[in-house]
Amino acid sequence: MLRSIIGSITTLAVVGVGGFLIWKYALNEPTNMGEAKEGLQNLGQQAGEQWDEMDLGNFTDVLDGLEGLDFGDLFNDDPKLGDNTTYLWRSDYIQPSNGGLQLKLLNALDDTWQTEFAQAVSDWKESDALVLTTEQVEVDHTCTRIDGVMVVCNANFGDTGWVGINENSMLDGVIQSSVAKMNEYYLRNADYDHRRFTMCHEIGHGFGLPHTDENPYNSNLGNCLDYTDDPESNVLPGDVNMNKLRSMYLSRRLRTVEEDGTVVERTELLLR
Ligand SMILES: [Zn+2]
Repeated sequence: MLRSIIGSITTLAVVGVGGFLIWKYALNEPTNMGEAKEGLQNLGQQAGEQWDEMDLGNFTDVLDGLEGLDFGDLFNDDPKLGDNTTYLWRSDYIQPSNGGLQLKLLNALDDTWQTEFAQAVSDWKESDALVLTTEQVEVDHTCTRIDGVMVVCNANFGDTGWVGINENSMLDGVIQSSVAKMNEYYLRNADYDHRRFTMCHEIGHGFGLPHTDENPYNSNLGNCLDYTDDPESNVLPGDVNMNKLRSMYLSRRLRTVEEDGTVVERTELLLR
């Protein structure tokens, strides 16, 4: 039984990444080789070693496509399922009166993903709460995390049960870095809509956005953070995502403590 096909892991703290993965991959036992490899890869990075890129960049054993798989049946165990917490990037990246979140995306994808990446970035740039820059870097199938940016990458992670995953590294509840991973085991030969949906979805998590709906079998809401069995009408960010981004990155939060100790948090949505 495959686990979730779209996943998202939010690590609780940068220093906790190793511990989280030990819990997930060692204590909880990997259910397959792909999962074990990914766990080892990340643990290897923690120890300052590089996982063998030969495996992650080897696409000979990937699926021919998603035909025959029930796309909607592959969301059951998403680590982010039911988690509606909204996380923000570090405050020095947020300029509410100057376009919102200022973030660089490092494009570590190989050539086959450039169209999907460019499309998704251009779609997210429609947000008035994001100021995105991109930089194409050397292809990195190990998907190494880099502080202060969102790394977007592709690799053959194997039969993990997820087509894409986003890992936001947090410190004190604040996002410090993000990695959006495309799993070539499922996506190498998938059709454009599935690839574009996954790219939009994982980049969206990288801004701190939660899911908008987690039932893949109901009607599509018209945004890429809505689980779906058929992504055709869900490949773009939607108004609900854009409004959420506005409340996250174009607002100013003021916290005051009253005499009786009541903490009042006031959120002002700033006009640009
Ligand atoms: Zn997700």
